[in-house]
Amino acid sequence: MDAAASLNGDSPQGAIGIVGGGQLAAMLAEAAQRRGVPLVVQTPNPHDPAVALASQVVQADVRDAAATRDLAQRCGAISFENEWIDLQALSPLAEAGVCFLPSLEALQPLICKRSQRELLQRLCLPCPRWFGLGQLATAPDPSPSAPGQPADGPDADPSAVTPAQPLPPPLPDGFAYPLMAKLATGGYDGRGTAVLRSDADLQTLLQQVDAADWIVEEFVAFEQELALVAARDQAGEVVCLPLVQTHQHQQVCDWVLAPVEATHALQQRARNIAASLLTALDYVGVLSIEFFYGPQGLLVNELAPRTHNSGHYSIEACSLSQFDLQLLTVGGSRAEPPALLVPGALMVNLLGVASLPADHPDAEHLQQRQALEALPGVHLHWYGKQGVSVGRKLGHVTVLLEQQDPPLRRQEAMQRLEQIRRIWPLPSGSESVDGP
Ligand code: ADP
Repeated sequence: MDAAASLNGDSPQGAIGIVGGGQLAAMLAEAAQRRGVPLVVQTPNPHDPAVALASQVVQADVRDAAATRDLAQRCGAISFENEWIDLQALSPLAEAGVCFLPSLEALQPLICKRSQRELLQRLCLPCPRWFGLGQLATAPDPSPSAPGQPADGPDADPSAVTPAQPLPPPLPDGFAYPLMAKLATGGYDGRGTAVLRSDADLQTLLQQVDAADWIVEEFVAFEQELALVAARDQAGEVVCLPLVQTHQHQQVCDWVLAPVEATHALQQRARNIAASLLTALDYVGVLSIEFFYGPQGLLVNELAPRTHNSGHYSIEACSLSQFDLQLLTVGGSRAEPPALLVPGALMVNLLGVASLPADHPDAEHLQQRQALEALPGVHLHWYGKQGVSVGRKLGHVTVLLEQQDPPLRRQEAMQRLEQIRRIWPLPSGSESVDGP
């Protein structure tokens, strides 16, 4: 472990490194400042949201493993802002003693939607039924002689023209349209998903993508989407934020209501799923789980090995935020259970409504920000990103709710949402350009 000694030996043990410099790293840096924890970020752009808030910056691409080695020399443990992690490039660092939390082994099944589904099945945890697109037999070659193709050449009989699309391979038993196809790695905010409504959609997808990179799952008729942020400390203790409802607009999170009015049994079921996952993976840090809830009960849609948009409300509404939990667990402290300090909270994302260059006078949205800040009980988080594009997450607001009674609280939340939407409308397009 000589290399380990050289990498970690002189590093400040209390400092935490984070690979990534977007809004999640920025909010982590704010929490780190409040707690007096030095935070070092690795991020490529000096204008990235976390740069001004971090104690130190390693200015490099997040997939630059040599830069992560530099980061390791400045801190005691390294965590990640998102799941686009090059595990292979980082494994020599782990072997040399760099402390990644969560560990690279724990992250391995989480960085791809296919391996997430395999993990859930292995642990007998509920998720939508799925199959790998690559497991369908190869689509027929659309050559001139293939059935279903127009004939050409000197002997061609124009009357023999049949539909241009060859038939796709049959669906596996028990699957029917509509289906949801998903890119296994690299998708976010609905980018890398496609609803398949017919054989023609399936055939088009097969012709356009590398089937090995995609999974296909049943289209779930959910009533609500729920989310849970959980954290596990180095002693194995698991704590969770309250279960919340998330609402998506064109597959991007639009608002989050905390807590969701759910039975004790449902909340316990969600917590048990989180504890099973974290414990099975020997995971240290924050893990976020997105669920579908409906006639099929609770199904896990997606796992994110990090803090999450659905937990932002915890900054103002809880005794410990998701960022505090990340700092505590990665920093080696005990994770205390976070408690709601108010009856509830509504978080609303501020998504870009039009494309504007960074130097455009409206790109800072000053008037809208002032109007939002003037609303009672509203906390604005502006990420300070360079440039605006449609659907880009530019900031969020958290509204603390006062009603104790769940139906009245939901009513209060929807009224506050309307108020916010009058100032900051939803985008009509679906394009989104940056990560979670
Ligand atoms: P991303 O990683 O792009 O956010 P998700 O898997 O979370 O992709 O899907 C985005 C949204 O698409 C979900 O929040 C949900 O609204 C919808 N969705 C995803 N999978 C399904 C499914 N199997 N059935 C129905 N809706 C789905």
